[in-house]
Amino acid sequence: MMYLYNSATHKKAEFVPNHPDIVKMYTCGPTVYHFAHIGNLRSYIMEDVLEKYLRYVGYHVKRVMNITDVGHLTSDADEGEDKMLKGARREHKTVLEIAQYYTDAFFEDCRKLNIKRPDVVEPATHCIDEYIQIISRLMDTGYAYQAGGNVYFDTSKLERYYVFNEHKEEDLAVGVREGVEEDLNKRNKNDFVLWFTKSKFEDQALKWDSPWGVGYPGWHIECSGISMKHLGEDLDIHCGGIDNAFPHHTNEIAQSESYLGHKWCNWWVHVMHLNTNDGKMSKSKGEFLTVSLLEEKGYDPLAYRFFCLQSHYRKSLVFTWENLDNAVVAYQKLIAKIAALQPADTAVDQAAFDEYKAKFMKGMDNDLNTSMGITALYDVLKAKMGDVTKLALIDSFDTVLGLDLLKKAAELRAKQAAQVAAPAAGFTVISEDGEEDAEVEALIRARAEAKKAKNFAEADRIRDELKAQGIEIIDVAGGARWKRI
Ligand code: AMP
Ligand code: ZN
Repeated sequence: MMYLYNSATHKKAEFVPNHPDIVKMYTCGPTVYHFAHIGNLRSYIMEDVLEKYLRYVGYHVKRVMNITDVGHLTSDADEGEDKMLKGARREHKTVLEIAQYYTDAFFEDCRKLNIKRPDVVEPATHCIDEYIQIISRLMDTGYAYQAGGNVYFDTSKLERYYVFNEHKEEDLAVGVREGVEEDLNKRNKNDFVLWFTKSKFEDQALKWDSPWGVGYPGWHIECSGISMKHLGEDLDIHCGGIDNAFPHHTNEIAQSESYLGHKWCNWWVHVMHLNTNDGKMSKSKGEFLTVSLLEEKGYDPLAYRFFCLQSHYRKSLVFTWENLDNAVVAYQKLIAKIAALQPADTAVDQAAFDEYKAKFMKGMDNDLNTSMGITALYDVLKAKMGDVTKLALIDSFDTVLGLDLLKKAAELRAKQAAQVAAPAAGFTVISEDGEEDAEVEALIRARAEAKKAKNFAEADRIRDELKAQGIEIIDVAGGARWKRI
């Protein structure tokens, strides 16, 4: 039994899909006006783990993701400029060029982080007919109104608008937000745009004909339209980062259920934010961390995935370089331990396999507790069982964790073997657990040079200096190995 927290009911409960044979899952995709930052990617990593775990326990999953390439304004409350236009202006490109470039960049980041591509990926600009169909019915049934050229959803028509959080009554009144212009067309403060024809920015690049005039869809209608196009009238799980809960997901529910006349989605899964010490990581702040930047600084993107998996998705996570460095060391040690296991031609101990798989699942079944899942991995490494069984379990868990554990361990083994097999290839320095540290390496090389020059006093001095740093050198044919003690 898998327990999952549902933001709509504010409770953890047993997850049961609507149809026993398939889980219908929808994820809000990126707004492709800039690179994804590693905060966005925290959400996508955790959603990827959820999808993979559902498959692990035996469900078929159909997962759909939109690409927001129109209609998402700089304020989630339908105010400001279209983010895509802003990106195009920033880079002197067309909106379509910007969309293509950053969609490709997003999936490249996902590839590096072992985030599986959803079964269906749909750009918002491909589904205009679907939005028009929904909005037409909402107009016919009185849930939507036209004002000042735009079409709005009338939130006062709903018995319950706030699904995820209770807001104060005064929030419902039409009001002015700090720093943004009041939209006088709205009857109620939280009414939202379904279709824009009038915008402060007349140079909106992408426009389509509609019964309400030439214009473009609002951001929220995209997710309802794309979800219904590919997953039909009901949905098992809808995911996104916590900032999407209001207004985006709240509005998706309002318009979808008013259109359908029945409940739409059962489970709402929200990933808490990745924060820096000075607050939430956000694109609008200008400076933000990307996967490419991590790579430029020498980090393996999968070490960032490991960092994310060490924490629960419903707790906000603080990013510091020190925290990431700690995760890097732990990840490398884990790989070194796996590299030391001996694959052999013996059978897997099925009883032990089942026992430890159950431990892994106990953690993951508890609202996707990935840190418990990783603890189960360490338990396997410590357990008294044959290496073949350990390797089989690691392989199994990694179909969910996505850390390339066996592949990385094989690479480390190959590196170590190459050092022993080819001493003539020069003096090689590697660490026992795959850690890379240019300063340590330079000192070890300097010590070797000193020895070669018969300057044994200097060689000993360097050895002592490293020892003081907690580093032990092991001389091997053709080079040296080092490890932290
Ligand atoms: P966007 O590209 O801005 O539409 O956001 C893409 C996804 O990232 C959405 O699911 C957001 O909720 C999520 N998100 C935004 N900021 C963060 C953050 N700092 N930490 C985690 N997820 C985030
Ligand atoms: Zn969405």
